[in-house]
Amino acid sequence: MPDSLEKPAAPQICIACEGTVFEPAGNYRGYDIYHCLRCGFRFTHPIPGAAEIAAVYEKYNKAGKYTAKAERKVVRAQKRIRRYMRHAPGKRFLDVGCSVGTAVEAARRCGLEAYGIDIGDQSIAIAREIFPGGHYHAGAIESLPPEWGNFDFIYSAEVIEHLPDPHAYFSALSPRINAGGLLYLTTPDAGHWLVPKDFAKWSAVYPPEHLLFFTRDAMRHFLGRHGFDVIKFVWSPFKHHLKLLARKR
Ligand SMILES: [Zn+2]
Repeated sequence: MPDSLEKPAAPQICIACEGTVFEPAGNYRGYDIYHCLRCGFRFTHPIPGAAEIAAVYEKYNKAGKYTAKAERKVVRAQKRIRRYMRHAPGKRFLDVGCSVGTAVEAARRCGLEAYGIDIGDQSIAIAREIFPGGHYHAGAIESLPPEWGNFDFIYSAEVIEHLPDPHAYFSALSPRINAGGLLYLTTPDAGHWLVPKDFAKWSAVYPPEHLLFFTRDAMRHFLGRHGFDVIKFVWSPFKHHLKLLARKR
């Protein structure tokens, strides 16, 4: 449950498109969800405090459940990375939110220089152990080691929906991507036909873990403000996921 019992003020501005007209989109266990009528973005409002968010991630520090599936995930990520790597201007790959390092390992097997960062220090410890060929760092994006330099290919899978401040995240990330560099990003798709009419009943809605729900339009606006042009959206008819490839201007 959210900390405050007082009814908070309605949202003022859409963080994706800067639109100002909203309507309520339901409530999930005490968390209000709003809908931007301009770009379709849905979001938890108000955004929960840092302590409230941190508490739910304690459980992720037990990263063991990921390791069994790791090899299969590497193979799947390899196919994806190989498909897109020829469009990247160079070979420097970074997975932001790399968990136990499956995409980092996949990139390495594709011949890229592979780096991964994740806030879960136990996940990073596992990554170093099971996929020792990659470079890893435990911490927030703001702590990305300067000596790692800049990147040509950024991989960000199922991260942005968790972020209380995605602008801060992209402000830290964007300067580390070379001009012409690629961003591969996935997140739940709030505009997908599988999303129920009663939005808060959608299986992807569970604040304080998932806080933000983008549509294609919202994502185009948001990434545009951080210097990216969306090249294409990858349509998955039976999975409610937004997958996209964007290029840094
Ligand atoms: Zn909007």
